[in-house]
Amino acid sequence: MLSLSGIWTKQNESIFSIMSREALRHQAINLAQGFPDFDGPPEIKEAACSAILSGHNQYAPSPGLPELRHMLAEQQRIRYDISWNPESEVTILSGATEAIFCTIQALCNPRDEIISFEPFYDSYLPSALAAGATLRTLPLRAPDWSWEPEDLDRMISPSTRAIILNTPHNPTGKVFSRQELEILAELIRKHQIWLITDEVYENLIYDNCQHHSPATLPDMQERTITISSTSKTYSFTGWKVGYLFARPQVSRAIRNIHQNTVFCSATPLQKAFLASPPPESPYYAQLKADYCRRRDLLLGILQDCHFKATAPSGTYFIVADYSAISDLNDDEFALYLSREAGVACIPLSPFSLNPEKARQQRLLRFAFCKSENTLHAAGERLRKKTAPGTA
Ligand code: PMP
Repeated sequence: MLSLSGIWTKQNESIFSIMSREALRHQAINLAQGFPDFDGPPEIKEAACSAILSGHNQYAPSPGLPELRHMLAEQQRIRYDISWNPESEVTILSGATEAIFCTIQALCNPRDEIISFEPFYDSYLPSALAAGATLRTLPLRAPDWSWEPEDLDRMISPSTRAIILNTPHNPTGKVFSRQELEILAELIRKHQIWLITDEVYENLIYDNCQHHSPATLPDMQERTITISSTSKTYSFTGWKVGYLFARPQVSRAIRNIHQNTVFCSATPLQKAFLASPPPESPYYAQLKADYCRRRDLLLGILQDCHFKATAPSGTYFIVADYSAISDLNDDEFALYLSREAGVACIPLSPFSLNPEKARQQRLLRFAFCKSENTLHAAGERLRKKTAPGTA
């Protein structure tokens, strides 16, 4: 019998695909997958159409259009006061997902280890496995998602190649503080390992919170691969234009993998992002204000419906504890809500290396990147099916 790679035959379908399919089957309101039900800036859409119509339809240079790399380097300079060489240190890929995959392949040899906080974004594990590496995790403790530096220090061994840090953090909405990042940076320097940062929610930060890009900490630019994306900031998740910043040697290795897998991200869509609002544009404050309103709306709805939840400082997700409503495991309760209430969300257990244990924590993730009408409609439906002890 012809055989297949063990890694990929053992990978299950992603929870996002499963819950979106369930949402469709029950015509549920989809607060599961993190994509907006509205489009981003019209000027970016128009720029994409005009790029296609004016003939920008062939392969782009593999590391990305030079003018977009310049623009991204300039954004980093303005936002974080850090300078990257657009020729050798900025690379455009097909989404942060590809950036994470290529980075892990570039850094890791078989039997290396990568450490992430848990819950973790689901693509980290298969990316590590594809490189023959192992993912180890340090759980963030609910409800404030705290962690002990000594625990992380103890986990780092001679096999550890990198820590992958997601801030602002999906699914918890945690934004790592400057102090936490300084502790992390100290461990990275002490153990001489890499830091991969996943900053795709860098522009979705609320209240008085601030996003600190870890590469800006002392000596960290040398050891950090900074990954971000246009998906969340401009509400075009289906365009898959992501990017990363890294020193030339590591950029070269990552570009090699990108060149031999995807080769280049879609040319007219790269062109379109040249029309992005500049960092000083009011667009970004408006984006935050709009999301802050949606966050508060969904939070109020969930609290009314007997969920326990607090306001996240970043991202467009709320984690809610449903233990007052049901004793079901999180995947069973998420299926119940989709089927009976007609509202889809994501159980938290698939973000864990030990889903059996995590299922009993009774936590769900709801996305608020939806119009206020959609959120109100979800509230109407939830109210009917979430009385204490219903399920
Ligand atoms: N990292 C995190 C934490 C995410 O939530 C997502 C999107 N869901 C990605 C990476 C992937 O982003 P992209 O659409 O650019 O591939």
